[in-house]
Amino acid sequence: MICLLGLGANLGERELTVRRAIELIKNLPDVKLLRVSSFYETEPWGVENQPKFINAAIKISTDLEPVILLDELQTVEKILGRVRLEHWGARTIDIDILLIDGREINSERLTVPHKFLYERDFALVPLKEIYPTFEVKLHGDEITRATGSPIDFGLKLVACVDKNFGLGLNGQLLFKIPEDMKNFRRLTLGNTIIYGRRTLETFPNSKPLDGRRNIILSKSLKNVDGAEVVDGIEKLFDTLSTTENNFVIGGAEIFNELIPYATEIFLSVVNAEVSADVFFPSVDEFILRDTKTFNNFELRRYTR
Ligand code: ATP
Ligand code: MG
Ligand code: MG
Repeated sequence: MICLLGLGANLGERELTVRRAIELIKNLPDVKLLRVSSFYETEPWGVENQPKFINAAIKISTDLEPVILLDELQTVEKILGRVRLEHWGARTIDIDILLIDGREINSERLTVPHKFLYERDFALVPLKEIYPTFEVKLHGDEITRATGSPIDFGLKLVACVDKNFGLGLNGQLLFKIPEDMKNFRRLTLGNTIIYGRRTLETFPNSKPLDGRRNIILSKSLKNVDGAEVVDGIEKLFDTLSTTENNFVIGGAEIFNELIPYATEIFLSVVNAEVSADVFFPSVDEFILRDTKTFNNFELRRYTR
């Protein structure tokens, strides 16, 4: 089932806490993070004289029973230091279930759609951003776009796959097509590339690529000449700049980790079917914007 969650924070490092909450939700068993909204700064609602909030919405898919999901979300709130004092008062993080697939739930612990959803612009504005088919009237509350959302990095995924989205076999890429490699170079040169340890090993002499800022996402590597190594998503987001072009170039595990936060995909789809043991993730949450046809492959560009 598809589920839309609203997040809010007005204590501590608000943006960081919301990003951490999203990562913790992303890593819950049986939860798949599909999409993340911008962050918004909003006035407190219901109880005044407290700091402004950072609000965001995310879209997930899950097979968890709604109350089990609620349990999991409350555990995430606890991990991030939520203490329940005053109702509607200041908090490090609040994670609410806004909508589930058009389902209605009215149980002791759970009301879906959220009881106050239609009265709260701070929940509706981020929700509409990631759920455009959702028609609703806003109330004109003051809401400004804030920085700090992972989507602000404009992560672009670049990969070359076969017709079945096969990405690699035995630690090697499936194809080496000169025209595609030329496109890749033109796209990434002068920009930032983000990749994992195994992708580093596929480069000539296992060295970072020249003419680009190389960022390696790896828990095991320490120092690599010509690259910056980060040991997790949090560090990655600390390191990245929103004013640079950030290309994620593999491998499969890194694509899986970062596709929920991506805003664009460049996919070279080779006109062939070959064996593969790793695959590019589903692009169902993206829209195909244009296709360029080459000799033996097509270059597809997807956005949100
Ligand atoms: P509000 O619900 O008005 O946004 P709040 O989020 O500050 O207020 P919490 O203290 O986070 O309130 O939650 C109080 C209780 O609300 C939870 O223990 C939970 O059982 C219940 N609840 C009912 N419906 C929902 C929902 N859709 N999402 C999250 N919690 C819900
Ligand atoms: Mg709430
Ligand atoms: Mg709540």
